[in-house]
Amino acid sequence: MFDTIIIGAGPAGLSAAKILQESQKVLVLDEYFHAGGRLLGQLYEEEKGRWWNGLEIARRLIMETEGKSEIRLSTSVYNVELDDIYTVHTTAGVFKSRSLIIATGAREKSTPLPGWDLPGVMTVGAAQVLTNFSRVKPGNKGVIIGINPLSMVIAMELGYTDIEVAKICLPPKNKINDQTPKDAFETLVSLGNSAPSKFISFGTRVAGRVKPLHPAALKLFPKGGVKAMGLPISIKEKIIRINGTEKVESVTMQKTDSKGRPVGRKREIQCDFVCISDGLAPLSEIGSLLDLRHVYSEPLGGYVPLHSEMMETELPDLYVAGNVTGIENAKVAMYQGQLAAHRILGDEEAAICTLASINNERKNAKVKFHKDLIHGRETVEVMWKEIEKERQMN
Ligand SMILES: Cc1cc2nc3c(=O)[nH]c(=O)nc-3n(C[C@H](O)[C@H](O)[C@H](O)COP(=O)(O)OP(=O)(O)OC[C@H]3O[C@@H](n4cnc5c(N)ncnc54)[C@H](O)[C@@H]3O)c2cc1C
Repeated sequence: MFDTIIIGAGPAGLSAAKILQESQKVLVLDEYFHAGGRLLGQLYEEEKGRWWNGLEIARRLIMETEGKSEIRLSTSVYNVELDDIYTVHTTAGVFKSRSLIIATGAREKSTPLPGWDLPGVMTVGAAQVLTNFSRVKPGNKGVIIGINPLSMVIAMELGYTDIEVAKICLPPKNKINDQTPKDAFETLVSLGNSAPSKFISFGTRVAGRVKPLHPAALKLFPKGGVKAMGLPISIKEKIIRINGTEKVESVTMQKTDSKGRPVGRKREIQCDFVCISDGLAPLSEIGSLLDLRHVYSEPLGGYVPLHSEMMETELPDLYVAGNVTGIENAKVAMYQGQLAAHRILGDEEAAICTLASINNERKNAKVKFHKDLIHGRETVEVMWKEIEKERQMN
């Protein structure tokens, strides 16, 4: 029997364990063979000369928790039940605890298109882990399909190696993805207010050239794309097919107008790998298994379990932390893990202090996944308060 079980050994889960283990018996479970979650692949320059090295941060967290918390890797949680205490069913047996933290992170979304089942097609996250963690090149010349903060950050990371990124452009329009050149343009401009240093100069340059943002500005965006941060970005071109017999050999591109309608001829670009990125969504299956109420929030990345800003849920002694509560950067995830731990230990002063750090990081974040994120957070908090009021009245 454990005091607390934490599902997920990413930055949120390990940060919670680091605090709880000082006075509690803690078990951390993760289905991957290595602890650290998505930190493992992260590497970029936040400000001139200051690097965010996720692998190093993960190693530090692992060193600080190993031997003090029990960490079980390659262990997948497939069910959780609550009956006075939490019973956690995993591929390595059943474990019980008084408190539970769900820190399962996020999943990548991908847009399907013809040829996406060829060897050499992967998500941007897979390319990130291959390059920065496994030190294996995904290929020599790649194309990235999808323009969003994650794909841009990872394209930049690939650029640090000798991998050539030949094109970054939009996927074809279909039921799953209807991103228009205007949406992509807005994403690029909004990156100017956040994101790593190279984006700041890029975003400022684009915004400066086309201020204020209006349809005419988008029309001026060159059809062949621009080369910014050393990355060939095309918002008025869509990749409509990935070609190859045994593996990826090329992609077929179609030029579009500013509304995303096809114009002109198609062309082919040779490449040996393709990354697809349609953003991230919170991974909250465990919350669903416990019948937690979920809220849909576009700025948070999709359905998130209803929770308070203090990381509580509607169930007793059940907390959430990290990307499962909404897509944000790893620093926020770490603070959220700490906050959940302080709440479990009943340390209100530390909890309030950590909440202030979260809000501060949120405001000044170098990597922001959605421009309306703060609004998304506020909406969930308002709903939580309404439900709290209802509960108190009943
Ligand atoms: C592909 C990808 C790339 C990203 N790149 C960046 C970036 O460059 N910069 C940035 O700031 N943010 C990035 N993020 C956002 C990133 O998720 C956060 O930075 C941070 O890692 C979130 O921490 P977390 O602890 O909430 O989740 P994660 O780091 O995702 O960790 C969650 C852990 O839970 C485990 N898990 C999930 N379900 C189960 C289960 N059922 N049983 C057992 N274990 C389970 C997973 O294996 C994982 O190790 C990226 C996210 C993804 C998905």
